Amino acid sequence: MAVTYHLPEDIAAVLERLEAAGYASYVVGGAVRDWLAGGQPHDYDLCTAALPRQVKELFADQHVVETGMQHGTVSIILHGNPIEVTTFRTEGKYSDGRRPDAVAFVTEIERDLARRDFTINAMAWNPVRGFCDPFGGQRDLQAGLIRCVGDPDTRLTEDGLRILRALRFAAQHGYRVEDETAAALHRNKAQLAHVSAERITDELLQILCGAHVGVVLMEFSDIIAQILPEITPMIGFAQHNPYHRYDVWEHTVRAVESIRPDPMLRLAVLFHDAGKPGTFSMDEKGIGHFYGHPVLSHVLAEQAAKRLRLPAQTEEQMLYLVRHHDAPLGQIPKHVRRKLAVHGEQNFRALLAVKKADCIGQGTTPGNLTELLQQEQLLEQVLAEQSCLTRRDLAVNGNDLIAWGIKGRAIRRYLAEMLAQVLDHPEYNTREKLREIFEQLRAQDDCIELTVNGMSAGSCVRKIKKLLSDIPQVDTVDITLDSGKVVLYGQKIPFEQVQHMLAAAGFEVVL
Ligand code: ATP
Ligand code: MG
Repeated sequence: MAVTYHLPEDIAAVLERLEAAGYASYVVGGAVRDWLAGGQPHDYDLCTAALPRQVKELFADQHVVETGMQHGTVSIILHGNPIEVTTFRTEGKYSDGRRPDAVAFVTEIERDLARRDFTINAMAWNPVRGFCDPFGGQRDLQAGLIRCVGDPDTRLTEDGLRILRALRFAAQHGYRVEDETAAALHRNKAQLAHVSAERITDELLQILCGAHVGVVLMEFSDIIAQILPEITPMIGFAQHNPYHRYDVWEHTVRAVESIRPDPMLRLAVLFHDAGKPGTFSMDEKGIGHFYGHPVLSHVLAEQAAKRLRLPAQTEEQMLYLVRHHDAPLGQIPKHVRRKLAVHGEQNFRALLAVKKADCIGQGTTPGNLTELLQQEQLLEQVLAEQSCLTRRDLAVNGNDLIAWGIKGRAIRRYLAEMLAQVLDHPEYNTREKLREIFEQLRAQDDCIELTVNGMSAGSCVRKIKKLLSDIPQVDTVDITLDSGKVVLYGQKIPFEQVQHMLAAAGFEVVL
């Protein structure tokens, strides 16, 4: 086959120099696969008969980094970009189920290709010699098949990570796993115990973000459950609910596929209903319910997130969406504004995306999707108003309240109450109107005067203040030690509770 494979200049230059020095050298692995499949390679791996030391000598005029000399890899830095060159090698015994105990450098490309995971990844190409494809990689690529090089059971026991790599190539490129390899994937899933959390997470997120994730999650749910046992009860769990066409797992898979391929969003959707099996109940009409499932989903998702060692921010956002995926976002501007104030724009939008995916995954009620689209329009409309959504947007601030005679934690309470009113009536957000609201609120304030016997020192004052700070309705307390006068400011102060609390601490209260 006369193929002209256009190599980036720097890659071609490295190959040429190696070949000119008499070392057979090739582009290998993913780049050859992606190029043959009609795609654009995202990086190029080169392999060569030259030993790492010889590669270094040959490129002595360039910046060369010893990336992994013992594995045969050096990086030549050209125009600021590293080009990885690895010596042909075979691998020794694998005793830890993940990495070879030793590697040996060899001079035949075929022996190097034999250690690679799948036939589609075990091809090499050189501008002069063309393809080296001893395991039928081109044939499998054309058929869209992932097939282990050699005996699948042996290859998967050597390195458990290959199990997830197979799923990843299937999810990313839409390839099918060839039957014998597929059977071996299922059979050897326990090998995943030898793979580090970092590598599992890296592959899992790529699987989840693959364009063909759905078929992979359905066909290999047992393997996903091996790394995420939290999903096991979902698989095949019937919902007994007219709003759901599919069982919990299939619903989840369809929803995962329907949200944009952002790792955080896909994880959130993967776990959003994980709590359903554990909260299932059936009413007298035979309808299934899952009351409170988001709380349990949250617990399960958090457990998985810790094991996957997700970045803190990804974990936090994901859990937020799982926890709130079922909460309504409002059907009228006033309600949308309130929800926006609670969730913030970013979470509100993410929740909408999760809800859309959830709805598509139900496979029953297209009307709900229309509702969600209307909600999105409402959101845009509310955002366009540029109305006040947080305490910081209010036309008055804490300093104004201090100037109006308010102090302590009453300031927060006043601002919160003003914000609640402004969210319902954006036009109230003027200094004049807020002053009016303030006066109304202040008129409702309590001011209770007591006399307390038994205060003997400054320490008593501090003790009483500390006790009263546990009563949320009390904003501030003024105490005069000499006269024993205590004045409480706040709203709806529970007097009996105050009296009881002080008595229990040894103070006698006189009204
Ligand atoms: P991509 O870079 O698109 O993710 P890739 O196939 O290039 O895919 P890399 O991880 O960059 O994947 O690995 C480069 C090559 O090294 C692979 O094509 C494969 O030949 C080989 N390889 C990588 N990981 C393994 C492994 N765990 N077992 C066997 N061979 C592997
Ligand atoms: Mg690669």
